[in-house]
Amino acid sequence: MSLSQKLFDKAKEIIPGGVNSPVRAFKSVGGTPPFIREAEGATITDVEGNSYTDYVGSWGPMIAGHSHPHVVKAIKSVVEKGTSFGAPTHAEIYLAQKISEIVPSMEMVRLVNSGTEATMSALRLARAATKRDIILKFEGCYHGHADSLLVKAGSGAATFGVPDSPGITAKTAEDTLNCPYNDLEAVENLFSQKGSEIAAIIVEPIAGNIGCVLPKDGFLEGLRKICDNYGSILIFDEVMTGFRVARGGAQSYYNIKPDLTTLGKIIGGGLPVGAYGGRRDLMEQISPSGPVYQAGTLSGNPLATAAGLAMMKIISAPNFYEDLDKKTQRLTVGISAVLSRVGIPHLGTRVGSMFGLFFTDLSVVENFDHASKSNINQFNRWFHGMLNEGVYLAPSQYESGFLSSAHNEEIIDETIAAASKVANTLK
Ligand SMILES: *Cc1c(COP(=O)(O)O)cnc(C)c1O
Repeated sequence: MSLSQKLFDKAKEIIPGGVNSPVRAFKSVGGTPPFIREAEGATITDVEGNSYTDYVGSWGPMIAGHSHPHVVKAIKSVVEKGTSFGAPTHAEIYLAQKISEIVPSMEMVRLVNSGTEATMSALRLARAATKRDIILKFEGCYHGHADSLLVKAGSGAATFGVPDSPGITAKTAEDTLNCPYNDLEAVENLFSQKGSEIAAIIVEPIAGNIGCVLPKDGFLEGLRKICDNYGSILIFDEVMTGFRVARGGAQSYYNIKPDLTTLGKIIGGGLPVGAYGGRRDLMEQISPSGPVYQAGTLSGNPLATAAGLAMMKIISAPNFYEDLDKKTQRLTVGISAVLSRVGIPHLGTRVGSMFGLFFTDLSVVENFDHASKSNINQFNRWFHGMLNEGVYLAPSQYESGFLSSAHNEEIIDETIAAASKVANTLK
């Protein structure tokens, strides 16, 4: 029995499912997750000393690779001066200013500790500001685990939500409506019936939690227009896409200005950080300048803030995103070519260094329904084959992959060579 297997068994006795976040448990692909000992650059190493090229990047944050020396140095430089004060600090102003400079729609910024906190707080603000209850989200979009966001509709047309998890009240679920991603007509229909009751649309501007699904031309613009027409608030959940698909996130990539934006992942350089922000008139309603309550004991703590600031500096280097884009293209084109060579039907998607790979006959994947028609069995064999070859991919067909600036061409070519071997076994 491997050491990871032993640890996994032990973990399951004391931690639900053996993990502190569900996908880590490899439930959908089967098998035992390697327990990780350390990571550096593009490589993670498990407790038995096996090394893998990492395309998960802690699910997004590690855009500069693991243990980036500047991030490590920034953390070290503050750690001996106290790890949390619960009182304001200078560095929080710097980080908020930096975020606002990079994402100009965020005129004011509040730091929190996770993406979940960011989306939950943005929704509360939207409801308070509009004095409306209903939220519209999209099927398959993940916005963290707050009650009102763990809801999706049944298949097909927009309908009142049913909870995705026990423990969420029917009343809460009722206030969350769902439409299929990329279906502007469904959104328009819904607003024509209930527009005056809808506080906000919350959307991943590139859907990253059903694989990587791009918005169709006009979809995000359409949402902007509908929100303007009905006085609803447009929230871009850029916890994944922020600082990822472009320095200024998806809103700069597609040139659309949301009212509120939520951030997480990259913003903390691998430490627990999230943020939300947007229009000044809205953000001024947050406590203590306004009545909408939101707080956090560890929010803006010096470690997280230092790591975040170091990260903002790294991503602001000249050509950072151009280089990532080129390298990711090399990877996705290379993998697609080896799969095509052996006749495996698939569809690759990509924006910058965020990518998806669906094992499917479909020529487009526009929404959750399309994504769910993928060949899961083939994906699982692909996943385990690649892991066996030392390539660590997300253990689910419905996740996006990420490249970091630490992945060089040599590493990428090794991954393509591994893919070539694995592809032969997939038929
Ligand atoms: C990861 C993610 C979240 C949740 O962030 P946590 O830090 O895990 O709470 C929210 N929205 C999107 C789009 C995400 O990808």
